Amino acid sequence: MTNLVLLGPPGAGKGTQAKILCDRLNIVQISTGDILREAVKNGTKLGLEAKKYMDAGELVPDEVVIGIIEDRIVQEDCKNGFILDGFPRTVAQAEALDKILKEKNLPLSAVIHFMVPEEELTKRLLGRAEKEGRSDDNLETIKNRIAVYFEKTAPLVEYYKKTGILKEIDGLGTVEEIAEKVKEAIGK
Ligand code: AMP
Repeated sequence: MTNLVLLGPPGAGKGTQAKILCDRLNIVQISTGDILREAVKNGTKLGLEAKKYMDAGELVPDEVVIGIIEDRIVQEDCKNGFILDGFPRTVAQAEALDKILKEKNLPLSAVIHFMVPEEELTKRLLGRAEKEGRSDDNLETIKNRIAVYFEKTAPLVEYYKKTGILKEIDGLGTVEEIAEKVKEAIGK
């Protein structure tokens, strides 16, 4: 079983690398952003609540995303392992995750931190906005998402450093180069 957390700012390439890892390791990608976007699209209660935060580039409340993860990681398709992409994003979420994983006896194999300079992130996210038309990929929201990352999520690097399973990856380069670095870092 391989259970991974992908950490890094928006635009760092977490989603792209998650897909590559899923195929290689035969595990599932769990993206809270994708789950929330789907809920918004379907107009569910969750989606209606999440939309206002997402459109502003703010984080959805911790208890909402913690609940999503708690339900998702015990599903049948996670039996080989999972990749958490975009979760945890706050220390409270990381603490909740530790507790959930301990209760369910599901240890984390590694936390992969993708490091990308801020100017590059804005460039990539604006490019993605044109291609995919994500409603939260406009300049103002992008700037806020990056600021929110450095304020609320970046402290998780220190949090996971203490666990000894943090792998730091230079996120600049081609998709293939980064995939190779990830492979070396996690040894599979
Ligand atoms: P993402 O696709 O991971 O960039 O997520 C898009 C948006 O969904 C974020 O800007 C947040 O509003 C929300 N979101 C996704 N994951 C989380 C999380 N773990 N905690 C809080 N909000 C989240």
